[in-house]
Amino acid sequence: MDLFALIAERPLLLDGGLGRALMERGFTAGECPEEWNVSHPAEVEDIHRSFYAAGSDVVNTNTFGGTAMRLEAHGLSARAVELSEAGARLATGVRDREFPGRWVAGDIGPCGAMVAPMGTAKPDALRGTFAEQVRALVAGGVDLLNIETMFDLTEATIAVEAAVAEAGGRPVLASMTFKPAAKGFRTMMGVSPEAAVEALKGAGADIVGCNCEITCEPMADLVPIMAELAGGVTYAQPNAGQPRLESGETVYAETPEHFASVVATYPALGAKIVGGCCGTPPASISALAAALGR
Ligand SMILES: [Zn+2]
Repeated sequence: MDLFALIAERPLLLDGGLGRALMERGFTAGECPEEWNVSHPAEVEDIHRSFYAAGSDVVNTNTFGGTAMRLEAHGLSARAVELSEAGARLATGVRDREFPGRWVAGDIGPCGAMVAPMGTAKPDALRGTFAEQVRALVAGGVDLLNIETMFDLTEATIAVEAAVAEAGGRPVLASMTFKPAAKGFRTMMGVSPEAAVEALKGAGADIVGCNCEITCEPMADLVPIMAELAGGVTYAQPNAGQPRLESGETVYAETPEHFASVVATYPALGAKIVGGCCGTPPASISALAAALGR
């Protein structure tokens, strides 16, 4: 996959929020999303299908919490390789059968542990858990790796290094989660866009971006900052408005048209790969595809 040749031609569309899509298919709080790759394969395939049908060039595997460390919370660490490889095979299977020519990103989120001084985990343990997940995703056939929703720079850097080492030349995307703070955008751990781009590019990430936490409008201010730091190219996935609870259900107020009208401005600001994060439905991706002239 020549990622840079692709994005030189046109912006690439990612997918939206898997969590919302899972809940719409019966997933309940407390369950392990990655376990659904084995227990509910038809539902997970249907999610990927819905995003491809909406126009996503790239879908993310249902493996955000799939490191063995993160799966400890569900007592499923021993199944880490199985669950990530199964997740990759579900996405690549739908792609191969129904949407040939599209791409699958192996999705990797935080491992739930931090190294000193914030935590007690050993750097080598983090490196090992990310490397294991990358190998499983590659075995399942992913075309690229997407390390996302990172807030701690030490963890993100280790994840990128492990991915680059294990990805067999596949592109590695790395994205951190920023929000506006007193001195500009910062992650929850105080990481600046400058520090993120320098460290993650230095670790070998092909493209460094931003995702989650904020909605499309504040992210429109962050995208050009990220792009300039990263030599002109970044990627971005904002959340679909702020969720609120209505009669016990999580509701996102943002309309697909609003999401699309704002995110369609991102490519000109430097985000050559765009999609949505938490709460973004296929309807928002199809509205974005239309706004980008597809
Ligand atoms: Zn998110």
